[in-house]
Amino acid sequence: MNFIEHDLNFKNKLKKLNKPSMIVIHHAAHASANVLDVHRWHKQNGWSGIGYHFYIGKDGQIHKGRPENSIGAHCKDYNKVSLGICLQGNFQLEEVNKIQLDALIGLCQCLCDKYSISTIKGHGELKSTSCPGLNFPLMKVRQRVLRMFDNYIVKAGDTLWSIARHYNLTVLRLMELNGLKDSLIYPNQILKII
Ligand SMILES: [Zn+2]
Repeated sequence: MNFIEHDLNFKNKLKKLNKPSMIVIHHAAHASANVLDVHRWHKQNGWSGIGYHFYIGKDGQIHKGRPENSIGAHCKDYNKVSLGICLQGNFQLEEVNKIQLDALIGLCQCLCDKYSISTIKGHGELKSTSCPGLNFPLMKVRQRVLRMFDNYIVKAGDTLWSIARHYNLTVLRLMELNGLKDSLIYPNQILKII
């Protein structure tokens, strides 16, 4: 993944975040604020600096905010167990564009994989807030991100045996799950593994 890093200065020493188990999605509630604006606002709130770990622009670029290994300030009562992602825009009023949505899905997949996360929430599902906005397609994001865990994309050189062994399945079970009549598979084929 490509990230844009900023040399952000945090006021206080940040506390270490141990193994996050959830991703919380936010919007900036502002059409054009960038990551540096949010960093400045959050400092003005009296926080150490930007409370989100990632900030995704409408151009799909992913900016690093608070270091990924430190506790964020984005969702009261859940900061110690979650990573916070914020999207530029106000999705009470506008729609998320495809480039920005794809970037979010890619980032979520990457983080879910890295930390074995399977819970993705909108801020408003945890706290009383309209964030990330009425127009935000939370279900679509969840479906697209979490679906990858149920599937395996066949790579060149894979065999049913190697895949079955990797997922602790029998070849027969793998064939059953996918309605395969023989052991022939091809690269980029999507196999169910659950
Ligand atoms: Zn929020």
